[in-house]
Amino acid sequence: MKEVKELSVKFRLIYPKWPKLERQTEFHLPPHGPVVFAATLPDHVKVEFIDENLENIDFDDPVDFVGISMMLTIQTGRGWDIADIYRKRGVKVIFGGIATMLHAEETMNHADSVFLGEAEGRMDKVFSDFKSDQLRKIYNYMDNRPPIESVGTARREILNRGLYNYKGVQMVDLVHASRGCRFHCYPCAVAYLGGREFRPRPIDRAIEEMESIDNNRLFMVDNSLAQDTAWEMDLFRQMIPLKKKWCSHPIEDKPEVLDLAARAGAWYVYQAIFDTSDYIKERIKRYHDHGIGVEGTILLGLDNHTDDYIKRLIDFLLEIELDLAEFTVLTPFPHTKAFHELHKQKRIFSYNWNDYSADKVVYYPKQMSPERLHELFQHAWNTFYEDESQTIKMFKLLQRVSIRERADNTYRPRRRELASRAFGRKVG
Ligand code: SF4
Repeated sequence: MKEVKELSVKFRLIYPKWPKLERQTEFHLPPHGPVVFAATLPDHVKVEFIDENLENIDFDDPVDFVGISMMLTIQTGRGWDIADIYRKRGVKVIFGGIATMLHAEETMNHADSVFLGEAEGRMDKVFSDFKSDQLRKIYNYMDNRPPIESVGTARREILNRGLYNYKGVQMVDLVHASRGCRFHCYPCAVAYLGGREFRPRPIDRAIEEMESIDNNRLFMVDNSLAQDTAWEMDLFRQMIPLKKKWCSHPIEDKPEVLDLAARAGAWYVYQAIFDTSDYIKERIKRYHDHGIGVEGTILLGLDNHTDDYIKRLIDFLLEIELDLAEFTVLTPFPHTKAFHELHKQKRIFSYNWNDYSADKVVYYPKQMSPERLHELFQHAWNTFYEDESQTIKMFKLLQRVSIRERADNTYRPRRRELASRAFGRKVG
């Protein structure tokens, strides 16, 4: 017993805070990267997790080793500050996560060690190096991905789950059934991060994980489920008995796929909308015809976006009755095609990563000034939500899922409803 205690490492895993988008609703989803990473840790590592968006870090609380998990470019500044504080106190710090991979060189200036790549099967070595005081400055596995079969069930028990609710509604839990993406879209770094090969997890492992999650509502954070029709349909078929309700990035809009997705609990999808084509219009209609909602993700400021084009795009989104829309301005994150092109053309005027929040303009758009693009970005939010606020639209989506849950007896009342029942009166 004594020996185990001596060998164990108290490891504090921190998810640095970041400011939400100017117009985004103030809620926080439970993070995914840290819980997937925690599943790769050796047994002797005693991990405690702090999501700084919701909890404060007590720097005086003793710890052996600190890990900083960064998903977003906008988290890096705070992540580096946290590391500097711990390192001044003599605590070693290792960084990992997507934004660490995108900003590896700068992150090394604030780290004892930087881990790049996917962590399955690698952490025994890292922690043994830590214990023998031989931590390497960099562990680079970007080109040496572990077998997808080695991805285990994420360790959600490290989360302080009670914190992840909005007005009494429990937030969705995040889960993934695949990695990689065979596409290579202009603004996206996934090709660099996860590779161009679609890597589906064995379906039974993904199903087992979904089943283990104590939440009926999930967010499947796979880059895109629309990559292999046979796999996608098989996955949906096997999800039907779980009776979960879920949102995801795009799924294929073939009727047979949508039919299965709806039966498997598809609630709504995030769909990028770049143009006003009939293709998009019909695609959205097909989702809706199957009872699947659509949250449009709309990137403003591409080279073909004129003033009129953006205004027309906003009208189009209202015409096709999108359930929700999230507008962002094009942001050239490192290791994307957008970054390479705009950097080469000397059109990026801010390399301050704190500005890379996707609601600030950091480059010279082709068809207008940066200021005008920002005005149109504001106009887009204002116009889309003019007649019906974001809160009401979100409420409608929630109402839709509650109806389906009541129909298949999976509905869980909100905390307020529970309180109201307990005290026999209306609360709030
Ligand atoms: S935007 Fe989506 S579909 Fe395109 S490369 Fe990125 S993850 Fe793949």
